[in-house]
Amino acid sequence: MNPVTAPAADVVVVGGGVAGLVIAWEVARAGRRVIVCESGDDTGGMLRRGCVAGVDLDLGAESFAIRSSGVADLVADLGTGAALPLTIVEPRPEGAYLVLPAPFGRVRRLPLPRRAVVGMPAEPAASDVVRVIGRAAARRAARERDLPAGLPSGAEPSLFDLAAARYGRRLAERLVDPLCQSVYSQPASAVRLSAVHPSLWAEFARRGSLTAAAEAVAPAARAGSAVRGIDGGMWRLAAALRTAAEAAGAVIRTDAPVQALRTAAEGFDVVLAGETLRAAHVVVATGPAAAGALLHVDVAAPVGGAVRLVTAEVVSGALDARPVGSGVIVAPGARGAAKALTHVDAKWDWAARALPPHTHVVRLSARDADAPGLDTPAAVAAELRRLTGARIRTGDVRALTQTRWSDAVTSATAEAAAWRAAARAAAPAGIHLAGATVAGTGLASVIPHARELARALVARTSHPATA
Ligand SMILES: Cc1cc2nc3c(=O)[nH]c(=O)nc-3n(C[C@H](O)[C@H](O)[C@H](O)COP(=O)(O)OP(=O)(O)OC[C@H]3O[C@@H](n4cnc5c(N)ncnc54)[C@H](O)[C@@H]3O)c2cc1C
Repeated sequence: MNPVTAPAADVVVVGGGVAGLVIAWEVARAGRRVIVCESGDDTGGMLRRGCVAGVDLDLGAESFAIRSSGVADLVADLGTGAALPLTIVEPRPEGAYLVLPAPFGRVRRLPLPRRAVVGMPAEPAASDVVRVIGRAAARRAARERDLPAGLPSGAEPSLFDLAAARYGRRLAERLVDPLCQSVYSQPASAVRLSAVHPSLWAEFARRGSLTAAAEAVAPAARAGSAVRGIDGGMWRLAAALRTAAEAAGAVIRTDAPVQALRTAAEGFDVVLAGETLRAAHVVVATGPAAAGALLHVDVAAPVGGAVRLVTAEVVSGALDARPVGSGVIVAPGARGAAKALTHVDAKWDWAARALPPHTHVVRLSARDADAPGLDTPAAVAAELRRLTGARIRTGDVRALTQTRWSDAVTSATAEAAAWRAAARAAAPAGIHLAGATVAGTGLASVIPHARELARALVARTSHPATA
């Protein structure tokens, strides 16, 4: 076995994504010794910076949900003195579109209903809902409020079956399923509302109606306003966290994949290539496959297939008018290689200000990360024409950046819940789990969970001065 060459740490964090960085900062600023081991060549994980058309921007997560104040609280606590200022910004007000299949292989583009949560409308008879599902289906959906309270069969059905039973099948097919597939990468038939949107579920339980629940939870003003971003990109949050953690004394090591964890006489040995670190506590803040391997979890990791994003610089006046607002969500039946598109500078003013005239940045999310497609300027131009209706030529697509993640959790499924229970059982006392793997996908879930774990770790480890 490799000798223990590094000094003991109170906490070793495996994984330098946002969860690992939050814990490093919190534990270090409380005076504890903390080392972060990140396998990649940079920290941030799914908060990844790229440079497109000369502008630094996000290649991964680009916004955060404001269903909790967790992200805003962290930004406030990091303070204005951060080397990289963090200013929370709202997306532009136009909202996004839904792309639906139309006859002869064509598509229809319709604005997404403004007051809806996971496709479930607060105003089922509103004109933007009627345009998507038709007048008769909207009338049917509007009766949801008058249905008897409670679940169709007692136990919680899938999100699709719940929405179909209460709002009607057409609304479930045209709104709920596309939104679910786009946001959670799972068909609505594979997830439950209580897992994908606990606060909507709680409101449904309280009010007995999905319409009333959506009314309580949906942003009042418009689609999209349930999220915020950071001026210049979310990657800045990870960069600021790392700077603050290092300033507080955390040691952050990149290109340092952890190969194994072993129980030692006092604490744990964290095995890296050619070196072993000794820690009183270990936090595993990786994706589920890596965590499962380190903890020898004998249940298959809930990894829902790889995620592939294509970020393109497009120079064309045809996108100046923001033809699909902040972007589109593509209904499964509309086929094509992309399941969603974000028109980055139509969504974020900071990006529009930074880019030269007629230069745009679009992000396409591949429907199947492993299938070919979206890998040449011609393929991207064709998909952009289809999804936006704008006349984009191959020569307009100037640069393509492909980004891929293979260990992203599908936190909303029953398998994910079973895995979490097995992983917790496999981790001995003193080894803790953090990140989307246990907290659920998204910064609004990951950050508060990591801060709470950090507080518990600080309480359980003694300050050097008092030890
Ligand atoms: C394309 C994309 C877009 C997204 N958009 C949004 C969004 O707009 N809003 C939102 O709230 N959320 C979004 N998310 C989800 C959000 O980014 C994640 O939930 C969150 O960033 C997860 O953070 P984490 O620290 O748990 O994990 P990660 O960011 O995955 O970090 C885990 C780290 O562990 C490292 N690691 C793995 N194995 C080892 C090992 N053996 N040793 C050492 N290190 C290891 C990895 O390299 C990685 O850096 C998006 C995710 C993706 C993929």
